[in-house]
Parts: sequence; C-alpha cells; structure tokens
Amino acid sequence: MPGQDLTPEEFRRVGHQVVDWIAQYRETIEQRPVRVEVKPGSVRAQLPDRLPERGEPFDALLDDVDGVLLPGLVHWQHPSFFGYFPANASLASALGDLLSTGLGVQGMLWSTSPAATELEQHLADLLVPALGLPAAFGTAAGGGGMITEASSSANLVALLAALHHASDGDWQARGVDRREVVYVSAHTHSSMEKAARIAGIGSTAVRVVDSDPDTAAMLPDALEAAVAEDLAAGRRPVMVCATVGTTSTGAVDPVRAAGELCARHGIWLHVDAAWAGVATVCPEFRHLIDGLELADSYCTDAHKWLLTAFDCTLLWTRRPGVLTSALAVVPEYLRNAASESGAVVDYRDWQIPLGRRFRALKLWAVLRWYGLEGLRAHIRGHVSLASEFASWVAASDDFELAAPPLLGLVCLRARGGDDATRTIMERVNATGRAVLTHTVVDGRYLLRVAIGGLNTERRHVEALWRELQAVRASHGGPEPSGAASST
Ligand code: PLP
Repeated sequence: MPGQDLTPEEFRRVGHQVVDWIAQYRETIEQRPVRVEVKPGSVRAQLPDRLPERGEPFDALLDDVDGVLLPGLVHWQHPSFFGYFPANASLASALGDLLSTGLGVQGMLWSTSPAATELEQHLADLLVPALGLPAAFGTAAGGGGMITEASSSANLVALLAALHHASDGDWQARGVDRREVVYVSAHTHSSMEKAARIAGIGSTAVRVVDSDPDTAAMLPDALEAAVAEDLAAGRRPVMVCATVGTTSTGAVDPVRAAGELCARHGIWLHVDAAWAGVATVCPEFRHLIDGLELADSYCTDAHKWLLTAFDCTLLWTRRPGVLTSALAVVPEYLRNAASESGAVVDYRDWQIPLGRRFRALKLWAVLRWYGLEGLRAHIRGHVSLASEFASWVAASDDFELAAPPLLGLVCLRARGGDDATRTIMERVNATGRAVLTHTVVDGRYLLRVAIGGLNTERRHVEALWRELQAVRASHGGPEPSGAASST
C-alpha cells in the first residue's frame, strides 16, 4: 500500500532477515579485505539516478547494501583494523540501538520521556565509581553526567560552560569580547579549535602551550607562564583543555598540575579522555586521571573502546548549573510543570540540539551484557597485546618506537626514515590484510597501531607484525627478524 509503513508482521519477517544479514556479515568479516581502493564517484555511479516513485520491497535495499555499498566500505569491525582509534560496535550495543530506535522516543525534556532521562542519569552516576571518577561528578554530590554524540560536541559544550563561567554569568547575554584564551597543547584534538570557532572566540583565542619533546605532555611551567602573560596583558583565561590519551600518540597531560593552576585562577579545566578514558574501568589505569577531582568537566567515548556502537560519548561536570545557565533557552512551547518544579533534569540544556536519541539504552545493553568484568577483560586484553607488540618493535632492527606506548596505542617508524615509513604504511594498507593510519609529530612521520578491535586477537597482531616486517624487507630494509613467528 503506498504511503504505509511495514506492518508489525512484515517487520518481524524483514527484521529477521536484517538481523541474519548482520550476523552473517560479522561472522564472515575476517574473510574480507579490511579496505579496498575505491575510485571517487564509483559508488555513486552504481546508485539509481532517481528516487523510486512507488515504494519497493525491503529486499531491494538489502541487495544494494550487499552489491553496491559493501564493496565501498572500510570494515571498521574487522579484527585487523588498527587505524585511528577503535570504533567498537558490539552486537549487544546494536541490539540496544535497535530497541531505542524501535521505541522512537525523544528525550529532550524529562517530561518527553522520563525513563530516557532517568536511565541516562543513572548510568552516568553508576559509571562514576565504576570508572574511578571523582564523586563530585555524581548527582549526589551536585554534579552530573550525560550522553552526547561525540567528544567534539562535549568539548564544545564544555567551552560554552567555561565562557559562561569566566564572564561571571553574563556570557549568554553579552557574548564574547575577544579577550578570551583557551589553553591547549599542539597535540590537543582539533575539535577544540573548531569549538573555539563555533563559540565565536576564533582560532586566535586558542593558545598552544609547549609540551615535553619526549612525552608530548603539556608542560605545567609553560602553562603557568602563558596564563601569567595573558593575565598581565588583560586577556581572559577561560579554559584549559588537558588531554588524557592524545589522538596522535596517546600522550597524557598533567591533569593535577593543570587543575591546581586552574583552581588558583578560577579557570575551567576540561579533560578530554575521548579514547583512553574508558580504560579506567580497570583500577590499574586510574593513575592516568590523577587530579581529575580538580576538573570541571570530563569526557570519554564509550563508542571508541567501550564496546558501544557510535554514538555514545559520556560527559560529566561537577558544575551542571553553569552548563545549563549557559545553554538553557526556554520557549513557551517547551514549558512544563516538571521542568518548572526544578526536580528534574532536561538534557536539552546540556547540549546543542534540542532533540535527543535514547542512547542510554544501547549503553545499558553493553553494561548488562558484558558486566564490568567483561569490560575489564576487553580493555586488558588489548593493553597486553599492545605491550607485546611494542616489545617486538623495540627489539627490532627495522623499526623503532616513535613515542611511549599508551594502553592499546603503539606508534612506530621504520629505521629508514619518513619516506620508508610512509611507503610501508601504504603497502600494508594496499594488501587489504590490515589497516593502519599515520600522524606527524615534530615533523616526523609515524605509524599508529591502535589495538582495540571488538574481536582483535593475538594472531591478528602477530600477522600485522609479520606483514610490516615483510613489507620492510621487500623494500630495501634488512630481512625480517622473525620476532612474531617466534612468539
Ligand atoms: N578528543 C580526542 C582526544 C580524540 O582522540 C578524538 C578522536 O579521536 C576526539 C576528541 C573526537 O572524538 P569524537 O569523534 O567522539 O568527536
């Protein structure tokens, strides 16, 4: 019937087909190349040049997913995907997401779906002790957490709160005055500079503080000097963004020292732990967030390494009042008794858009399916594989470590120099047997091996190491030393 959705009966039938399709895709993913060369425009060339006038059976869509889209995708869930950071999309989270979409609720206000807000608040609170975060981030202590779509958004929201905080509360009316300064290191994620542009203070408000040449961590003395200089010049230090696990090399900024400085000057400290933060589910990694009790806001992505399909970033603040004062605008059509009672949280006031998905459900699916024990095993497995991999690199004649490894991230380069390193990455990626990505730090080209895939096992890491050595050997380097084959 034109204009009609699937009947529940059709949904049942097609839904089973879709679930079977996904199960089959995941079951056989390892048989696929992780990525293949795709010529720009080649996918579009296979797509119909007009939209159907009459509705089509769902099978037609599945055929195109199979035949047209799959060959044009990079298989991020492949166990030999080592690029960027992991983007775990566990099947448990996929089911949680399906439930959430099936419910189709909007959680913009508490009153538009009370359970959506309350589950989200509850999970954010339960994760405070589970991740070893300061109690001040929990609701009971006057703080609170939420789920947003990305750390980039969390960084923006934190900056808006910081601007409000630095203006003694009149930023929402007055806007910025171009004296604002945000402190980052050269390794801070680019989303912070983008946030400064969106917030209207511009890229010139972002001051890059020197970092340690060996560890790439922000230098506390340099931060202190930069703040003092700006204050003396009449500028307005608004926020320090410290990163725990930088994108390029996994560097860890000194959160405690930054926090002490921020506390002295009333500056907002935001800690971006997008990738590394979830590792503190294991107590042995909590030293990475030492000093976090001094932070005003903190974010980490469940959608990177904590088994939850994109999108699922957790953001906590110990000052929710500042955040909501900065962002709340209440038009008549959203007024309701619950909001006015002050007894509920309306998450629309914690984010940029009004509408919001019920993301907490997929996170809950993950937390319940795996349990904290399962999450710890997931993280620990990768960390131990990464430290083994790093030991092979360190012992090799062909490669060297290019930065201190952190958790599941190992950065390396070929001993032959930047061109050799770049060529090796291109050749490994061209095999389709693994995917790696690169970065440039202090002018040197390096490879990043991010171990953290949903199903990445030792054999995949061994195979990558063999591949790297073989490619190195066939392009002018010494013979493979065979470290992985002896393991
Ligand atoms: N912050 C850091 C430190 C990151 O490493 C990344 C991405 O890798 C981001 C922010 C952006 O993450 P998202 O995709 O969640 O916006």
